[in-house]
Amino acid sequence: MSVSLSTTIKLPNGIEYEQPLGLFINGEFVPGKEGKTFEVFNPATGQVSASVHEATETDIDIAVEAAHEAFYNGPWSKLTAAERGIKLAKLAELFEENLQILASIEAFDNGKAIQLAKGDVQACIGCLRYYAGWADKIHGKVIETGPSSFNYTKQEPIGVCGQIIPWNFPLLMWAWKIGPAIATGNVVVLKSAEQTPLGALYAAKLTKEAGFPPGVINVVSGFGRVAGNAISMHPKIHKIAFTGSTLVGRQILKASAESNLKKVTLELGGKSPNIVFNDADIDKAVEWINFGIYYNGGQTCCAGSRVYVQEGIYDKVIEAFKKRANKNLVGNPFDPEVFQGAQVSQLQFDRIMSYVDIGKKEGATVEAGGARHGDEGWFIQPTIFSGCTEDMRIMQEEIFGPVVAVAKFKDIDDVVFKGNNSVYGLAAGIHTKNLNTAIEVSNRLRAGTVWVNSYNSLHWALPFGGYQQSGIGRELGKEALKNYTQVKTVSINLD
Ligand code: ADP
Repeated sequence: MSVSLSTTIKLPNGIEYEQPLGLFINGEFVPGKEGKTFEVFNPATGQVSASVHEATETDIDIAVEAAHEAFYNGPWSKLTAAERGIKLAKLAELFEENLQILASIEAFDNGKAIQLAKGDVQACIGCLRYYAGWADKIHGKVIETGPSSFNYTKQEPIGVCGQIIPWNFPLLMWAWKIGPAIATGNVVVLKSAEQTPLGALYAAKLTKEAGFPPGVINVVSGFGRVAGNAISMHPKIHKIAFTGSTLVGRQILKASAESNLKKVTLELGGKSPNIVFNDADIDKAVEWINFGIYYNGGQTCCAGSRVYVQEGIYDKVIEAFKKRANKNLVGNPFDPEVFQGAQVSQLQFDRIMSYVDIGKKEGATVEAGGARHGDEGWFIQPTIFSGCTEDMRIMQEEIFGPVVAVAKFKDIDDVVFKGNNSVYGLAAGIHTKNLNTAIEVSNRLRAGTVWVNSYNSLHWALPFGGYQQSGIGRELGKEALKNYTQVKTVSINLD
């Protein structure tokens, strides 16, 4: 069956729009060379929502050639840094104009609550604008070594960058990747996750409206083992940025080693501790631990999925947390009151439910949830396990769903040991009124981000990334510019 290059979709909130379905290569939507397509599902119903064109190795080759040409010979190579910034700012403006539609696509494609989807699109706008501002502020240095030479460095773009993004924040990850890569003058071939290709394609259409020359931003839909692998092995891609599971992160690093040693940044999994001290404001701390785990249905790499509560307030916190978790409205992503929508896929749903079984078998106490929500779609009740111990799998393994493991701790040394008892190191939360406790514990935790008296408070200006097996490199902020530039040293002999 041949699939056209776009289709009209009527979303559950009444918005009707034209959804691109092709691969966005060299400034046009095109079918895949092998004519393959794949189905995309609506997580709220489990029904097929669209079929999109699938990129295979040949399409990746074509996209890379287009990007290569744009980088070395196209108009992109002649633009000033300021002009690049103007285009990115224009893209941010188009995201703003299309906020309702983009957020609605995201809720439809991913199953996330529309209120969260709107927040995601606002964060995309912030991120794109932020990097638009950086475009003409990237400078090298003059370095003195003595009177007989004049030395300077330049921050040069790398060239064709491969970007592979996950399904949990499809548009936000798109913006996190495109923003710094484009601000620094690179060109990209971005692959969306096979579960959630729709927003990425709509955003690709906006890049054309923003005036990016053909080949600068290429966006393809496809599978990890085919298109993803072709990107990570490609000899003409010299940088790859990946967000996803630690398992696939390892494969990307290996592919780089086996192909052309492309530079790799990885933003991977986590099992982040969220720590509540005796002196914390209990109501506020409970708000944050609730938000820390259930935001985006727990499908967040930095989710506060291990909660440690100090002995003196343990029972009180459990009671309050139970009440709070039961109040989270779960259901129809398009209901503006809903906080937790559907999990993204049947596979993820089954995986999370298997961890709920594991937690029960391991002897943890189910304080809230512990079952599916409703009888259609992939919804799961906000689930709390208490009385968890360090050896339990629900305490060690990333569940990526609305399931939290809670345990007690005695003092700072105890919780620093437990907090660090993980192969990951993406984030942590600390809830206390004592500044010394906050600083000591944040110094001693091995985590890329520590939130004090808050959680999941990401901002495009703040670097984000992991210690240990949570990743390599940092996204966002000025830090991310380093991922997309390489330093050239020019040394002039003055003798
Ligand atoms: P999840 O397990 O949560 O689906 P993955 O890490 O498998 O997360 O997927 C994240 C992204 O990585 C997706 O875009 C997926 O297509 C891609 N991917 C999966 N496997 C590979 C692979 N072997 N090589 C490159 N990309 C891959």
